[in-house]
Amino acid sequence: MRNRTTAVLIAGLLAVACSAPGQQATEATDPTAQGLTAFVGARIIDGTGADAIENGVLLVRDGRVEAVGSADEVPIPLGAERVDLTGRTVFPGLINTHGHVGDTLGLEGGHYSEENVLDHLALYARYGITTVNSLGGDQALAGDVRAAEGSPDLDRARLLFAGPVVNAASPEDITARVNEVAAMGPDFIKIRVDDNLGGSRKMSPEVYAAAIAAAHANELPLASHLFYLEDAKGLLEAGTDFVAHSVRDQPVDQELIDLLIENDVCYCPTLTREISTFVYEERPDFFDDPFFLAEADPAVMEALQEPDRQQRFRRTGAPYKEALQVALANLKAVSDGGATVAMGTDSGPPARFQGYFEHLELELMAEAGLTPMQILVASTGDAARCIGRDDVGTLEAGKLADFVVTTANPLDAITNTRTIESVWISGNRVPDAR
Ligand SMILES: [Zn+2]
Repeated sequence: MRNRTTAVLIAGLLAVACSAPGQQATEATDPTAQGLTAFVGARIIDGTGADAIENGVLLVRDGRVEAVGSADEVPIPLGAERVDLTGRTVFPGLINTHGHVGDTLGLEGGHYSEENVLDHLALYARYGITTVNSLGGDQALAGDVRAAEGSPDLDRARLLFAGPVVNAASPEDITARVNEVAAMGPDFIKIRVDDNLGGSRKMSPEVYAAAIAAAHANELPLASHLFYLEDAKGLLEAGTDFVAHSVRDQPVDQELIDLLIENDVCYCPTLTREISTFVYEERPDFFDDPFFLAEADPAVMEALQEPDRQQRFRRTGAPYKEALQVALANLKAVSDGGATVAMGTDSGPPARFQGYFEHLELELMAEAGLTPMQILVASTGDAARCIGRDDVGTLEAGKLADFVVTTANPLDAITNTRTIESVWISGNRVPDAR
């Protein structure tokens, strides 16, 4: 009895000696608890597609996940800071594999600045989008913003970028242009292969093949904007690394699905891009959604309800209503066929609301017929892989601690991703207020 008391006393003294000055150790503190935060009690969806962990423990230290599992499996060192998340759901921060960052202010483009880039990344973060792949319109300062993600205080979305969209009329010119953009140090090269429903000239197969070859010579992946099935096949045969939009002219076929799988290329639906072309012909339902209104600019909402503008949307949006229906069916076919889907929205241009549109995208993916788990994996673990990141997207030991806490379970209904209680990036809580 006496010996045991002595041992406890010694352990207690050691704990006091090991803790920081001024910190009171009332119990024997485990030295391994130093700097450790334990998020306890939540249902954890890890982003790999594995079943959710009930009554989970997520251990975070120095901005990274140290351990994750059920309360039975993961011991919590005594003295670790505890965050009680009983009744909540935790899932990895969402990844938008096709966004645009830094150019839009209100309903205008042309406002690219570091301040605007950081504002957009903070906005995405408040909506639980913790990584954004900006596919075009990026300027050189994007490289500095990207590099700053290593800060231990990071509390805004991580940025990947493509630089300016590459375009030229000949293989020689596009090769030179790719080399120029590659010198910016982007994560992707981006091209557009589209005639805008017959309204403009489309990049030829010779030119896009040269762009792809030049991107690969610079050891960069190339992302392709496209609309037509025939172009999607041509681009995949030529070696594109990312399909940045849905095929929207006709149903996809087995040949397209085989090309995606054989080349390990991800398919990014951007369903909300179609929505944005016609939804403002009248007052959108989401103008009454508190989750939208929390960040909405009343002046922008008012401008989008001007009769002249609504009239213009009625004139130009009609073909894209049909395109959306094709895109929804094609997403289901591509997913059922076994190709990898990467959540992306094309948000960022005027009236494509960053943060909110990603949640709208998830709802449309459900409308297409994907399950909540398929949608979450496409927005986390698979999305990370599709943009070449192996340090985000899942909650596994060693990954960056980017995650979302919701009050309702998105596996019950994907719209429950909108019940955000908190967002964490590199283990830092994202500030709620603007
Ligand atoms: Zn885009």
